[in-house]
Amino acid sequence: MEGLKQWLVDYHWSQSLLLLVDVGLVLTLTYIVLLVIAERRTLWMVRGFIFLMLAAAVSQRLRLSLLSFVLNNLVIGSAVAMAVILQSEVRRFLEQLGRGEILSLLRPIQQAVLSHDNVIGEIVDAIKELSQNRTGALLILETTNNPVDERDFSVPGIRLNADVSCELIQSLFQTSTLLHDGAILIRGSKVVAAGVILPISERDASRQLGTRHRAAMGITERVDNCLCIVVSEETGSISLAEKGTLNRPLTSSKLKELLEARLTLSIDREASSPGLWRLGNRIGKKGWGILSRFFPFFVTRRKK
Ligand code: ATP
Ligand code: MG
Repeated sequence: MEGLKQWLVDYHWSQSLLLLVDVGLVLTLTYIVLLVIAERRTLWMVRGFIFLMLAAAVSQRLRLSLLSFVLNNLVIGSAVAMAVILQSEVRRFLEQLGRGEILSLLRPIQQAVLSHDNVIGEIVDAIKELSQNRTGALLILETTNNPVDERDFSVPGIRLNADVSCELIQSLFQTSTLLHDGAILIRGSKVVAAGVILPISERDASRQLGTRHRAAMGITERVDNCLCIVVSEETGSISLAEKGTLNRPLTSSKLKELLEARLTLSIDREASSPGLWRLGNRIGKKGWGILSRFFPFFVTRRKK
C-alpha cells in the first residue's frame, strides 16, 4: 500500500514537471515566432491564428463536436494560408533552424541599426540644408535589424544601395532629378532605394498636411520598426513621423536629439552596463515589447 502511495506521488510530480516543461517549450516557441515576425500586420494575423487554435482546443474540451470539427479545419486551412502569405518569414525561420543558428533566432530585434553618430550627423546635415532651401524630402529610417517589409510600400522604387551621405541625400531630392519624387529608404548606413511611394494615412489630419506628410503617417502607422522624416517644400518645416503621428515642427537640433534617442541611446546604455544586468534588462524590455505589441489592449505603453 505504501509503495503504491509513493508511486502515485512520484507519478504526480513527474506529470507536473512534464507539464511545466511542455508549457515552457510552447512559450519559447511562441517567443521565437514573435521575434521572427516583427511586423505589425503579420502579428495581427498570428494573433488571429492563435485565438482560432485556442477556440478549437476549448470547443474540443467542451465536447462540442461539430464546432470543434469546423474550427479544427479552419485552423488547418489558416495554417496553409499563412505559410503561403508568410513565405519569406517561414523560409528565414526554417533556414536558420536548418543551419543550426538557434541562438540567432533569439537575437534582439530592437537594437538600432543606425548606431553611428556620423550617419545620423549626415542625415541631419542634409535635412537642415533641404529645409533651408525649401526642398521637399521624405526619408524612411529603419529602427531595428529586421528590414521593413517592402510589400508595405505602394511602389518599392529604384534600388540604390549607396552609402549615406549629406550630399547624396540632398541630390536625391533636387527637383531636377528623376528620383526626387517619393521617399528614400535608409537601412543602417545605406540608402537602399529612392522614389519609394508609400501608403497614405486615412486618419483625420490637419488640412495643411498634404500627401507627403500623410504618406509619412501612413507608413509609420502600418510598420512599427521605422521612422519617417519629412521636409516640407512649402514651408521648409521638419517633421518626424512615428507610429502614425507627426512630431512637428522640429529644429534640426531637436531632430538630431530625437534620432539619437530613438536609434542609439538604448545601445549605449546597454553597452555600458555589466553583462548579467544587460541580459536581464534586454529580456525584460523585449518581453514587455512583445506583450504590448501582441496585446495592446492589455498592456498600456510605458513612458520612457
Ligand atoms: P509639402 O509641404 O512639401 O508641400 P505636402 O504634405 O503638402 O508636402 P504635397 O504637396 O502633396 O504634400 O507633396 C507632393 C510630393 O510629396 C510629391 O511630389 C511626392 O514627391 C511626395 N509624395 C506624395 N505622395 C507620396 C507618397 N504616397 N509616397 C511618397 N511620396 C509622396
Ligand atoms: Mg503641399
